Amino acid sequence: MNRKLSIVIPCHNEEQNIEHLIAEIDRTLADIDYPYDLILVDDGSRDKTIDVLKSASSRNTHVFYVELSRNFGKDQAMKAGIEIANGAAVITMDADLQHPPEKIKEMIKSWEEGYDIVYTYRAEANPHASRNQQRGSRVFYKAINAISDIQLESGIADFRLMDARVIAELRKIDEYEIFLRGIIKWVGFKQKGIPYTPAERHMGEASYSYKKLIKLAVTSVMAFSVRPLYIATGLGLFFSLSATLYIPYILISYLAGYAVSGWTSLLATVVFFGGIQLMVLGIIGMYLGKLFMQAKHRPNYIIRSTNLEQTK
Ligand code: UDP
Ligand code: MG
Repeated sequence: MNRKLSIVIPCHNEEQNIEHLIAEIDRTLADIDYPYDLILVDDGSRDKTIDVLKSASSRNTHVFYVELSRNFGKDQAMKAGIEIANGAAVITMDADLQHPPEKIKEMIKSWEEGYDIVYTYRAEANPHASRNQQRGSRVFYKAINAISDIQLESGIADFRLMDARVIAELRKIDEYEIFLRGIIKWVGFKQKGIPYTPAERHMGEASYSYKKLIKLAVTSVMAFSVRPLYIATGLGLFFSLSATLYIPYILISYLAGYAVSGWTSLLATVVFFGGIQLMVLGIIGMYLGKLFMQAKHRPNYIIRSTNLEQTK
């Protein structure tokens, strides 16, 4: 019976963390009774990450590397690792040691109890994040939960265990711009969340900028809901109704002979409705753009090289 664990780790400019990461995982998993693979996915790093990965994999039989052809983003890098993995369970975690390897034991315990997905969420506000980051993260989850059809715990992480039957379903999903944290909720199965306390990033700098985070928020809302389109329609309806009520008033003013004084209100109305129209068009355009990209059916990632056997 396959009992192997595949641990998938996306790496973007993590040359300083990899050695320590592998050592920590080896140390933690030494006292559990499961064989395991470490699948490290180099997501188009500009530093020497791939060299470190190659040399680690030549010394350590647990370690395998997957080199992507460029930077595809964390979710796509994780997807690459998940799809190439062949364990009875796949665990994803970050390369910077913010996800404590110790927790893997707890995940495995829940998996043995019969859970298909064991995900983690931050126990409390991340003590290492700046105040702005904390606020940003809260707004991020509030927005997603309010607008889209899935509910995410605040601080839910990409640190999770998934049974092979979940992986089989994930493989079937052919979505341009996947958002795994959402997809994982969407697939269902028996799920359990366990809290974890994030550690400080071991070395180097976080790759996510505000721009990337905003993009992620928009992607995740749009991937799980067309509600923004309803909002757009609602706004359009509200303002055209108001305009219909306003027009008789304008006409009566004209007939009564004091029309010219309305220049300011006219301009205000034009500008205002212009704005609303642009916004609605923008929302429709964004969905159309996503459809366009999806219609191309491009792969989520391209593998340049790997020392794993490729199944796809
Ligand atoms: N990462 C990646 N591709 C990217 C950005 C990040 O594979 O384009 C990886 C990174 O190497 C790390 C994980 O995703 O293993 C989380 O990234 P980071 O620590 O920069 O973000 P944060 O801790 O703020 O979530
Ligand atoms: Mg990090």
